[in-house]
Amino acid sequence: RIGWVEVVCGSMFSGKTEELIRRLNRAKIARQKVEIFKPAIDKRYHDVDIVSHNENSIRSTPVNTSEEILLFAGDCDVVGIDEAQFLDNNLVEVCNKLAGSGKRVIVAGLDMDFAGKPFGPMPLLLSIAEYVTKVHAVCVVCGEVAQYSYRKVTSQDKILLGETDSYEARCRRCYTLGELA
Ligand code: ADP
Ligand code: MG
Repeated sequence: RIGWVEVVCGSMFSGKTEELIRRLNRAKIARQKVEIFKPAIDKRYHDVDIVSHNENSIRSTPVNTSEEILLFAGDCDVVGIDEAQFLDNNLVEVCNKLAGSGKRVIVAGLDMDFAGKPFGPMPLLLSIAEYVTKVHAVCVVCGEVAQYSYRKVTSQDKILLGETDSYEARCRRCYTLGELA
């Protein structure tokens, strides 16, 4: 059997987790063995569940490094990884190895950080994937298609875990106007 890599990317609230859960559930319906991972750093809602903003959830294994995914993936058919932007660059090699051993690998993550810069291993994953899906949120200011995660608070740290209190989805225009304000 031949494996491959799928990436689902976009801003916060764009439905990445929703789409990842949809794909994994459909694999489960087809009686495929599914393993799901997320970086241990992401504890916003739950230690082991992956939860979308519309409150769908699925059980996952928290990992500290991308190599741990290789150790725990075992004999499954499909590997799901959420919040991949928080993992290390070795994730590229890990995904290639998993796909090389015949697994379908579905990776979801933020393509850009709050500053509009490529986030962690995501740009590398976009290059090596067979399939790339970019999903979009709705701009909370004007209702246009949003691709930016606008930070509403002043911290300049690249990683600031948070939700609607710290971030909002914005289109290119409203994101830029906010940055200039
Ligand atoms: P992501 O994983 O990309 O952050 P989720 O899958 O967790 O996204 O959540 C997507 C859901 O977020 C949508 O179905 C919708 O219910 C909700 N949502 C909240 N704010 C927005 C917004 N500005 N644009 C689109 N969806 C939003
Ligand atoms: Mg998500």
